[in-house]
Amino acid sequence: MFGNTPVPFTASWSAEERFHIAECRYFGRPAVFQDEQPGVGKPLFGKPHMQRQRQVIARCQCDLCGLSLLTSTKVSLSHARPQPHGASGWAVLQVEPMLHKRCAATSIRFCPSLRADVERGTLFVRQVTSHRVQCAILSEAAVLEFTGERRTALGHAKVELLRWIDRDAAWLEPDAEPRRRAAFPEQREAAPGGARA
Ligand SMILES: [Zn+2]
Repeated sequence: MFGNTPVPFTASWSAEERFHIAECRYFGRPAVFQDEQPGVGKPLFGKPHMQRQRQVIARCQCDLCGLSLLTSTKVSLSHARPQPHGASGWAVLQVEPMLHKRCAATSIRFCPSLRADVERGTLFVRQVTSHRVQCAILSEAAVLEFTGERRTALGHAKVELLRWIDRDAAWLEPDAEPRRRAAFPEQREAAPGGARA
């Protein structure tokens, strides 16, 4: 949390500003790494942390809470549109990690830009039933800019959606609603007191 705003597990923080190259344990190749000081400074919502973003995608964890998605409904919130994908039909390639259904609802509730994009129809809500994992390979120029070393290296991981069901923001809400009420019990207790008066 930062103030009253939940911060995604994968967001980087302003103290995590230095980059270097190391072996990625998930993809088994040299990758761009950055300092690890989550919670220090300010959260940078638009900048996923290199290691944490690769970790959650490689291990199928949730973008917001960081817990496992393996046995949960998997939700994609992404601006990416489907692209033709050879013999297997259409696929969506996205850098945003997937989310629990309730965590997707929380993200939309707290993020003004996600909410605006849902209303505008440019953010797609998908229930993912089949996916696979990839990792971007950064050019020498990009790695040089990050780390000062001129070489190629892995960057952020990507989720490739192979099968999904198109959903909408309203579909996310039924699970989220009881949790939101439970988080503010004083509101339920206030009503009977007010009725007596
Ligand atoms: Zn979650």
